[in-house]
Amino acid sequence: MRVRLETLGCRLNISEIEGLARGFIAAGHGMVGPGETADVCVLNTCAVTGIAARKSRQLARHLKRTNPSAVMVVTGCYAELEPEQVGALGVDMVVGNREKDQIVESVTQYVQRDNRQPQVSDSQPSTSDFQPHYLYPGARTRAFVKVQDGCDNRCTFCIVTVARGAGRSRPTDEVIAEVQGLVRAGYQEVVLSGVHLGSYGHDLGEGRGLYNLVRRLLDESDVPRLRLSSLEPWDLDEDFFSLWESPRIGRHLHLPLQSGCDATLRRMARHTTTAGFAELVHSARAAIPDLSVTTDIIVGFPGENETEFSQSLAFVEAMAFAKLHIFRYSRREGTAAASMPDHISPQIVSERSRRMHALGAKLERTFRRRFLGRTMDVLWEADEPNGDSLVWSGLTGNYLRISAPGGPGLRNVVTPVRLVADTPGGLTGEVAL
Ligand code: SF4
Repeated sequence: MRVRLETLGCRLNISEIEGLARGFIAAGHGMVGPGETADVCVLNTCAVTGIAARKSRQLARHLKRTNPSAVMVVTGCYAELEPEQVGALGVDMVVGNREKDQIVESVTQYVQRDNRQPQVSDSQPSTSDFQPHYLYPGARTRAFVKVQDGCDNRCTFCIVTVARGAGRSRPTDEVIAEVQGLVRAGYQEVVLSGVHLGSYGHDLGEGRGLYNLVRRLLDESDVPRLRLSSLEPWDLDEDFFSLWESPRIGRHLHLPLQSGCDATLRRMARHTTTAGFAELVHSARAAIPDLSVTTDIIVGFPGENETEFSQSLAFVEAMAFAKLHIFRYSRREGTAAASMPDHISPQIVSERSRRMHALGAKLERTFRRRFLGRTMDVLWEADEPNGDSLVWSGLTGNYLRISAPGGPGLRNVVTPVRLVADTPGGLTGEVAL
């Protein structure tokens, strides 16, 4: 079969679609991209905000329209939360989050049962020349590996727990085997992902599950660069940062704060305070040189008056984050916050979003300029033609986006780069081969 894969949303969704790609390839099927004829289209949807749900509908319609003869499969959080609405889009299969891992088998059975005899694709890569970035059109150079799903917390704004269910971890040996396979396949970087990554292992009776997993991955695999995706601040203790004695772990922590005001954090049912968060970030920075700390911030949460928002702004500035991911509060039916009083007007929410973005841009500039003149290792991901040469884009270990001129064949290669200038698009450098 010729399979087209698309995903929206979080890193967990990315890791799941990459897992499906490996499953389809292992089953002998080929990957196709936009503009190529597909026998099957699989869309992994998102519903974290109203906008994400709307984009999921739009992409499902687009894929159906541009691939009229393909078997259309829609899965992910939007399909989990609104199966009827997705079914009404005229798709062939609506697959919930818990059945997602069986999509390769269920699609194959559906195709056979439905007597759709797809063409045998001649575009599939043979396993001998399997290279990471050929996984499927649009695939990433870095491998996202799902180690955990679901969440047992009940943050009052969050629909993810409803869509993904209770927290559950993949067996450690299974994760280690997958990462060893990815290293053999040529990946330079692996990103561990989950809904509530920090709770990894709790359901396996392992209190320090994530620490132990990372420890074993460093000891039992040759993964050159290991990165951790989003971590809830309350899951980390000071000793956790001793893992960064290994230079193979990306010096980047994404710690969702959500608000810099304690009163707002209480209404969000977040298990952290600004004082606790500040202390954690302080000990992380003391333990990990060049550490970049990024975060998620919600503006316009119900009841957030001007005083609370000003406190949030001031605390975010004091934390000197390397980057902010800013979300306007999105009312999600099924969450506790949806029925809270004092929802904020869209005008005020967009004004606060503008102010938080302005602060974010200033903090990001300040952080990255600290590294001007330094030479740092960059994993190159993609190139763009620039006159008769190429401009490459990639990430440092501490998650700085770098661009530099270079020759062909740098994709999935790590090189030292001297950081020479700061531009609105980020730092630029010279490849120091
Ligand atoms: S920790 Fe909170 S925000 Fe994160 S997935 Fe769980 S409930 Fe949602």
